[in-house]
This record gives sequence, C-alpha cells and structure tokens, in this order.
Amino acid sequence: MDEQGRVEFTKEMKKDYRILIPTMLPRHLKMLAALLNAYGYHAELLENTGKEVIDTGLKYVHNDACYPATLVVGQFISALNSGKYDVHKTALFFTQTGGGCRASNYISLIRKALVKAGYGYIPVISLNFVGLEKNSGFKLSIPMMRRMLYSVIYGDVLMVLCNQVKAHEIHKGEAEAMADKWTKLCVDQLKKPGILPYSRIKKTYVDIIRDYKTIELDGIDKVKVGIVGEIYVKFSPLANRFLENYLIEEGAEPNMAGLMDFALFYIYGRVLEYDMYRIHKKSIHILRLAYKIFVRKQQDIIDAIHKESDFDAPTPFAHTVALAKPYVNYGVKMGEGWLLVAEMVEHIDRGTNNIVITQPFGCLPNHIVGKGVMKVVKDRNPGVNLIAIDYDASASEINQQNRIKLLLANAKQEIGPGEKN
Ligand code: SF4
Repeated sequence: MDEQGRVEFTKEMKKDYRILIPTMLPRHLKMLAALLNAYGYHAELLENTGKEVIDTGLKYVHNDACYPATLVVGQFISALNSGKYDVHKTALFFTQTGGGCRASNYISLIRKALVKAGYGYIPVISLNFVGLEKNSGFKLSIPMMRRMLYSVIYGDVLMVLCNQVKAHEIHKGEAEAMADKWTKLCVDQLKKPGILPYSRIKKTYVDIIRDYKTIELDGIDKVKVGIVGEIYVKFSPLANRFLENYLIEEGAEPNMAGLMDFALFYIYGRVLEYDMYRIHKKSIHILRLAYKIFVRKQQDIIDAIHKESDFDAPTPFAHTVALAKPYVNYGVKMGEGWLLVAEMVEHIDRGTNNIVITQPFGCLPNHIVGKGVMKVVKDRNPGVNLIAIDYDASASEINQQNRIKLLLANAKQEIGPGEKN
C-alpha cells in the first residue's frame, strides 16, 4: 500500500486474482469481462442487485455523494461480504474518465469504503485512457483496445435492435434470447487469438441485423420513449429499476443512444479543449485520429442497419453535435455535459416526442444541464413531453412509475389506439 492508501495490482496478482466489474451496461460489460479473460485475467461482471446493494452502499458512502457512487460501492462491498470470493485474491475494476465530475473521484471513495469495511488490502484497478493511475499487472495493448472497441460496438448494436424488437415481439423472450446468443457468439469471435479483420466485424453486424429480422413482430404503433440522462443511471438496470423493461411492459418502445455516443463526446470534448485552450498538445494527433475512427465505425453500423432493415439506426455523431448548438455551449462538459441536451433533441429530431430524463440524486451536471434546459427544449418544440425522474435510495418506485404512466397516458391520447401498420 502506498502513502495515499493505494494497493497496486501487480503482475503476480494477474495470475490468480478475480477481478470484479460493477454493472452498468450488462451486455457491453459481459463482453469486456470475457475479453479480459481471453487476455489472461479472471474477470467477472457483478450481477448482485436489490435492497442489500443499496443499503450496503449507504453504509459506506456519505449520503451527499451522487447515487451512482452509492450503488457502485454497495455492489462491490456486498459482493465481498457474500462469501463467494476469496477476498485475499480479489481485485476491483473501475473506469475513470479523467473529467471534472465526481466519477473521476469514485476510486478514492471506493478505497475509503474498502478500508472502512476491513478490505483495505484489496487493489482497485482503474481503466482510464488519460494516465490517471497505472498498475504493473494491468496493461492495455493496441490489439486489446481494438477488441474492446468492437465489444462496445457490438453491445450498442444489440442494445439498439433488442429494444426495438422486444417492444413488438409476438413470442415473449425472443429478442433477449437472440441478444444472449449473439453476445456469446461475439465473445467467441473477440476471444479468438490471431488477426481479426474489420471486414469480419462488419459481416457480423449484418448477420445480427438479419437474425433480428426473423423475429415475428406485432406491427402495432407504440409510443416511443427516449431515455436520456447521466450515463450510469441511464444504462444500469440496478440504478434505473429496469426502466427499459418497465416501459415495454407498459406498452411503449424505449429508445436510447449507445455507448459510442458517450465515447465520441469524450474524445470530441478533448479535441475542442485543444482548439480552445491548446491543452492535450501531446495527444492531439491521437485524439483526432481516434475521433475519425469512432465516427467511421459508427457510420458503418448506421449504413448496415439502413441497408439491411427498417430498424431505427443511431444518429451520426456530427448531427448530434449540430443539434445541441442552439441550446448549449460545447464548453459545458462536466458529466454528460452538452450531450444530455443533444440526446434530448436527437430523440425529437427522430420523431420521439416523449422523453424520460434519468436524474441521479446528488448529480450537479444533470441538475444544471438536464433540468436546466427542459423549459427551453419544451418551448422550442411544442408537443414534446419531457419528464425528469429522480433516482436515489429513498425514491419511491411507485412515484417514479406513476410519473412514467402519466407521460405514457398523455402520449397514447395523442397517437390514439395502437393501430396495426
Ligand atoms: S455525472 Fe453526476 S451522477 Fe455521474 S458521476 Fe458525475 S456527479 Fe455523479
């Protein structure tokens, strides 16, 4: 342990330590865990959920921290307490963006909680691309990073298609079963040693889309609901109480932008910082190159979906950026920053007029940007229904559901009874 209380994850530990990954995007992270295992680690995605996780988080994190911090710490400590793991051969894994928002500092909250719970000897590995923390036992090679990017793209493709199909499938469970099947196939492909040409990845997009087209749908017009908000609460079923499933049960079709948008927002933000303040001088060429690569990859998904199907495809990122311009300055970059507004307007641009803003307790960026723009977005887009739902340990689920039901009732009145199309 160093002077700051940090325990390094060493090369020795790589051999037999179990690495626990907290839930955020279950499908994406399942692929990431499998990928890490293919590179010699022993990673596992945590799936513990419910009141026990929340209560444990509250016990070890001060209640003025934002809600995702409570959940991440709660999930880790609750897993360590479960007796399922050899705590002397366990490490924790966490992502850091390096931005000014609290997420960059969770790592110290996690360490503090570990000490308090008697696990101060457990190493916490930070996944970051800005040199925040290094561990001799955890290194990312270029081929590994490429495959991680592919796992993000596959995760997005599966999420986008699964949500659209699940809302309309005749035989319940088919869309999820197909996503499970493809998650496994993608993992098998990404795990294989040797060269993985991008042409094979592109062919897999097509195969996934064609497979999803075989699922029988009801052809009924349903209320589309866009989900935006802070990244953890937006994506994590643990945090948002299975919001996507709830919307589907209530007869709506949920829609949300994938993780690629956040990755592009992050890279684009750094390029802008260079243009505005001349920082990131050393990495600007890599950042510009990464931006081009990510944009190109996103366009490949869009092209494949348009060519092969009638499914809704993601919005090209350049268009997302342009949509935000009349509403917010690109210098607003804490947390999800201007992307939050951009995603709201993106849904409206695609004809989705009902939007849920997932709002974690204690999140300053979301309160300022998310709630702050609601009035102006509504004023400039008459007929749009926006609701901000607060998520925190004490928020009443019934209250959250009632507000969503009200949104859906209003929307259903507008579109009339669901007609077959
Ligand atoms: S965006 Fe908000 S909820 Fe997320 S880490 Fe930052 S402060 Fe916390």
